[in-house]
Amino acid sequence: MTPDPAGVLRSVFGYASFRGPQAAIVAHVCGGGSALVLMPTGGGKSLCYQIPALCRPGTAVVISPLIALMQDQVAALRQAGVRAAALHSAESPEAVAATWRELQAGRLELLYVSPERLLAGDLIERLAQLPLALFAIDEAHCVSQWGHDFRPEYLQLAVLVERFATTPRIALTATADPRTRAEIVQRLALEQAAVFTASFDRPNIRYLLRDKLEPQRQLLDFLDGQRGHSGIVYARSRKRVEQFAAALVAAGHDALAYHAGLSAEQRAAGLERFRHGSGVVVVATIAFGMGIDKPDVRFVAHVDLPKSLEAYYQETGRAGRDGLPAVAWMVHGAGDVPQLRRFIEDSEADPEQKRIEHGRLDALIGFAEASSCRRQILLSYLGEPGSDPCGNCDICLEPDQGTDVTEAARKALSAVYRTGGRFGAAHLVDVLLGGDTAKIRSQGHDRLGVHGIGRELDRGQWRTLFRQLTARGYLMSSTDGHGGLAFGPDTLVRPLLRGEQRLEMRLPPPARVRRGERAEAGPGGAPSTGNADPDLLAALKTWRLEQARQQGVPPYLVFQDRTLITIAERHPVDREELSGIYGIGQAKLASYGAAVLALVSRHPAPA
Ligand code: ADP
Ligand code: ZN
Repeated sequence: MTPDPAGVLRSVFGYASFRGPQAAIVAHVCGGGSALVLMPTGGGKSLCYQIPALCRPGTAVVISPLIALMQDQVAALRQAGVRAAALHSAESPEAVAATWRELQAGRLELLYVSPERLLAGDLIERLAQLPLALFAIDEAHCVSQWGHDFRPEYLQLAVLVERFATTPRIALTATADPRTRAEIVQRLALEQAAVFTASFDRPNIRYLLRDKLEPQRQLLDFLDGQRGHSGIVYARSRKRVEQFAAALVAAGHDALAYHAGLSAEQRAAGLERFRHGSGVVVVATIAFGMGIDKPDVRFVAHVDLPKSLEAYYQETGRAGRDGLPAVAWMVHGAGDVPQLRRFIEDSEADPEQKRIEHGRLDALIGFAEASSCRRQILLSYLGEPGSDPCGNCDICLEPDQGTDVTEAARKALSAVYRTGGRFGAAHLVDVLLGGDTAKIRSQGHDRLGVHGIGRELDRGQWRTLFRQLTARGYLMSSTDGHGGLAFGPDTLVRPLLRGEQRLEMRLPPPARVRRGERAEAGPGGAPSTGNADPDLLAALKTWRLEQARQQGVPPYLVFQDRTLITIAERHPVDREELSGIYGIGQAKLASYGAAVLALVSRHPAPA
């Protein structure tokens, strides 16, 4: 008799119900169908293949690009009482031999392999002799040359299609980019597969953006509200990573630096400390990221602008995988932009690619400077327009910072019009401020009526205004590719020029104020532990840390925070009550039930 997926979800994983499209995906794959699954980080992709793996006869083969990810998944499955193993270059010969025996005897439910290991030697031939439940291709965007995590070995996975035509294939990714999706379908021959898409919204992440004034002090202020929480701080360069990490350590944080300039051993040790500790802060360049599936990262902070809005989404997405409240905090200032532009210009990319990169950067700047809900902008960029304001971003939480810029916007549009729609923002701002540059004189722009009509704003404010007008579609880059600005669609521009429409946006404070100002400490958005008994919760955390140490696994594999918080809320008195709690399946009940109940009995519920 085949097990029923909802029963497996409860008894093995300890979860009450499927989330979003999980139920449909599991049913489809259990029935032998192939699938492409597009789900955000933390959306619950693993269960989409783990449950069919347990419901279908044979071993499921999971292809995963990173050893750390495989090790985590295998350890988590074993905690849940599932027979899982991994084959990759870091396994000892004895462990490999044991895995082989298990595999051949049909005892393995899931086998994790790296793509290079799958394709090496005769593994494919050997697998072809065995009953296989399915192939899962995790991080499937690695097959795309367009995406940023391209891995050439993934291209060879096409062999699965030829060799195992009747075995279901399920490819999974958190990439939202349509071009990458199309490439996955083509390269993994998933034209016939069902496509399942979850919303890419991450409602538990609070987006907080701040003007960049004194980033180090602002970061320290923010982190004061995050003490005891694990988090990631992203900075642009190795040098800045080192500098910020040192400042955090000096302020008493358990912080470490992570960048490509460190040795492999140093990086592995840092990663280990982050995964096994609680309250460790990693200050990192973007080299730190894929493969972090720690569920209880409570914040991701950016002290420099990321490369693009996609990059921002992926980097911030590492916070709050466990669904509990988390914060994405960023300071941003126009000062970051020229350097990012230069990176693009200095790269090897062809002109078409560079143009796309500039466009992606523009989208990020539009997001950072927006005066409407951040989540709405992010979601509409990810192809999900039309959502309501979220109530969980700085704009929604701290409204009223917009000023009426209708007049200034009309002046900006006039400057574009009078100069022929061919010049970039820098020159247009010079004209509005009444500048006396060589370009202004040679073009005769000092003789235009718009010359010098914009002295009420300073240069930084004008630049913001031009970027916002572009982000909102009033202006667009002219088609000749020289970065000049031209009018957007008539239907937008005309009402504004005629004074039929008003425009509000947030401008940075004038430069003279900016230099002297001290920033406020923002709301931290720390997750609440609700009605949990604090003493019991502390005791449970201490117990968990000890268990994790003894077994050499990260604490969150023993129990996630949410499980401990729920125990400390409900004070379960017997196994039955315990088994109803989030994340407690039969195996964990058997291994840890007695110890947890003993702890609870020492911290009884208030009468
Ligand atoms: P992804 O791989 O998509 O980033 P994971 O598979 O790691 O996400 O799942 C994220 C978290 O959500 C994990 O802690 C997982 O145990 C939990 N989770 C997934 N599905 C469910 C569910 N149906 N009910 C409760 N928790 C779930
Ligand atoms: Zn919002």
